[in-house]
Amino acid sequence: MDRDPSAFAEELRILVDTIANEAHDSAGWTGRSALSPRVMAAMREVPRHLFVPPGERAYAYVNRPLAIGHGQTISQPFIVAVMSDLLDLEPTDRVLEIGTGCGYQTAVLARLARHVYSIEVVAELAEDAARRLHGLGCANVSLRHGDGYAGWPEEAPFDAVILTAAPPRLPQSLIDQLRPGGRLVAPLGLAHETQMLCRCVKAADGSLAREDKLPVAFVPMVVPGPGHRLR
Ligand code: SAH
Repeated sequence: MDRDPSAFAEELRILVDTIANEAHDSAGWTGRSALSPRVMAAMREVPRHLFVPPGERAYAYVNRPLAIGHGQTISQPFIVAVMSDLLDLEPTDRVLEIGTGCGYQTAVLARLARHVYSIEVVAELAEDAARRLHGLGCANVSLRHGDGYAGWPEEAPFDAVILTAAPPRLPQSLIDQLRPGGRLVAPLGLAHETQMLCRCVKAADGSLAREDKLPVAFVPMVVPGPGHRLR
């Protein structure tokens, strides 16, 4: 049964406090002891219980990743917040996201940027996310079912790029689609090993300055094979 959204108000308040505390506690890693007020407002505004399967709703505002089916997860709220913060988005920015999943991070980004372009490799997840984000009235989002390694060249260059699945190393195609001065935030590393969340800034000459921020555990960014239904 769906609970009245106001029933989650207290849990949401506690979650937002938890995110602020965790940001403070991990400042030694991230270099940021507080997240921007815009990011904190977005975390308050997006109804996370609408992004988790009905059976998981009771846990929607716990600061944990949750299973969403297809072997995939909805990211931990703190990680969504910190990655959004590290992108340093302006309201005029256009963002490329790889790994839509349930669309929760997409919805947060949509409140911080002018437009979000998001790519998901699992067809059913892409379709569900499209329905959900449309239902929530997120009009500044474009979704594509496809391989994130290709990026979205027709809409490049982007002011910011975020990966929510971990490749072993940064795909050159995605670096190419970032504008000079643009920011890229991604977990990097092998599947099932601790990965590093890194923040990169592209210089005018095309080179990337990279800073490692936080050890994280993300699902791998898969290379779609013949078994994947891509269109
Ligand atoms: N952003 C989500 C978390 C996504 S989990 C959130 O807000 O909770 C990572 C997602 O990346 C999964 O849905 C997975 O299917 C997708 N993914 C993995 N490899 C990919 C690829 N090559 N291209 C696009 N999406 C990919």
